Amino acid sequence: MQNYSVAELLEAKNILQEIQIKGWVKTFRSNRFIALNDGSTIKNIQCVIDFDSTPEEVLKLITTGAAIEVKGVLVESQGKGQNVEIQVSEIVVLGASNPEEYPIQPKKHSMEFLRENAHLRIRTNTFSAVMRIRSVLSFAVHQYFINNGFYYFHAPIITGSDAEGAGEMFSVSTLNKKNPPLTESGEIDFKEDFFGKETNLTVSGQLEAETYAMALGKVYTFGPTFRAENSNTSRHLAEFWMIEPEVAFNDLDANMDLSEDFIKYILTYILEHCKDDLEFLEKRLLDEEKSKPAAERSELALRDKLKFVIDNNFKRVSYTEAIEILKNSKPNKKKKFKFPINEWGADLQSEHERYLVEKHFKSPVILFDYPANIKAFYMRLNDDGKTVRAMDVLFPGIGEIIGGSQREERLEVLKEKIQELGIDEKELWWYLDLRKFGTAVHSGFGLGFERMVQFATGMSNIRDVIPFPRTPQSAEF
Ligand code: ATP
Ligand code: MG
Ligand code: MG
Ligand code: MG
Repeated sequence: MQNYSVAELLEAKNILQEIQIKGWVKTFRSNRFIALNDGSTIKNIQCVIDFDSTPEEVLKLITTGAAIEVKGVLVESQGKGQNVEIQVSEIVVLGASNPEEYPIQPKKHSMEFLRENAHLRIRTNTFSAVMRIRSVLSFAVHQYFINNGFYYFHAPIITGSDAEGAGEMFSVSTLNKKNPPLTESGEIDFKEDFFGKETNLTVSGQLEAETYAMALGKVYTFGPTFRAENSNTSRHLAEFWMIEPEVAFNDLDANMDLSEDFIKYILTYILEHCKDDLEFLEKRLLDEEKSKPAAERSELALRDKLKFVIDNNFKRVSYTEAIEILKNSKPNKKKKFKFPINEWGADLQSEHERYLVEKHFKSPVILFDYPANIKAFYMRLNDDGKTVRAMDVLFPGIGEIIGGSQREERLEVLKEKIQELGIDEKELWWYLDLRKFGTAVHSGFGLGFERMVQFATGMSNIRDVIPFPRTPQSAEF
């Protein structure tokens, strides 16, 4: 007997004797036909059992979700939709699954219901397809960077600085929560905490990645980041994975080139390596689209959307130019923007970003040179004194997928900015050292991995592209 996966058997060219396979029952029809899946592909293999010779106790246990082991012969199938099937000679139920209790039945479940069962939703076709694509995509990320001379840098998860100053951090502490030690002035005394100071979960590995880029040249991080933001949107998670390349001697133009090249590479990679899963998700989306009014239906099928991004040059537009466009636009005849853009200096919302991409330019867009006061302190100030060398990559259906910038490399300018914002210079002494010793132009960006998985799979909610989503009031698993 030789063990096989479903994927291997479906690709077998010949009849195979004495095969063995293990997996989970998807469906069991007419007391004869088992659709078996083992995760190796979205497809099932049909196992045909001999009703008369299969004991009744065993038949009873062949239900959706049960783990089974099957022995038999791989033969050509007469049935529609499959080339091969297994003629079963022996079947063992390894783990039964009580049909009265098993939540994942062969029918359409709501996404909310599946989120409540995040430990079992991976057994549905939709989630297994999404998570296989997620896995392949993360491999492609590493492959791109390694092929291009980058080093994989592991940024710390626990950090001692609130660098972004966004105040969206989860604190890390071993102090007694009910009765923490206090200073004389009545504040929590972090000197007595594990690290002797206030610490948080990281919101970004960028500042640390900069330190490594200023010695190794090209580095990238790809790890979890955390933001305690109270935004219940379909694009925000409290725990998400971020990809952050950082390159010494690259200016903003080179940074834009890198982001575009990188995105095109990883999307091309999954088009080649995730054919069956993409085809399945594309069909699922088309079915969903049919239930929408014609005007709201997407013009492109899933894989055409990916090709659209791959084949088009990302449109590069300055913030100032974008504001002029938005001031004079309405998303459609009837509707205004929920947050109308009236003047230069406003921060863009995703409705504006999506308008630029989907309606105006009909192309992925890279917006650059944002007002300094809506961006982080470390971005390179332009000669106009009011804009910074920032860039956001905007995607159809998503809005912002990347935020990046050329970093301020001039010590004095950076110090001034830090003072202006009231950030404690002492906290950033190590970051300022980079500007003191061998400073150079450098740039990088952060791409939210889940937003990319969302785009690649067409899933409408970010909670459905990460195994166990963390959002406000929700961390069950
Ligand atoms: P947004 O404007 O969408 O809130 P941001 O500007 O706050 O994003 P950045 O700090 O620029 O985000 O982070 C870089 C990238 O990380 C973003 O472009 C996005 O792809 C991703 N990202 C940011 N916040 C989240 C989140 N809460 N959940 C998932 N991805 C996120
Ligand atoms: Mg944000
Ligand atoms: Mg933003
Ligand atoms: Mg951003």
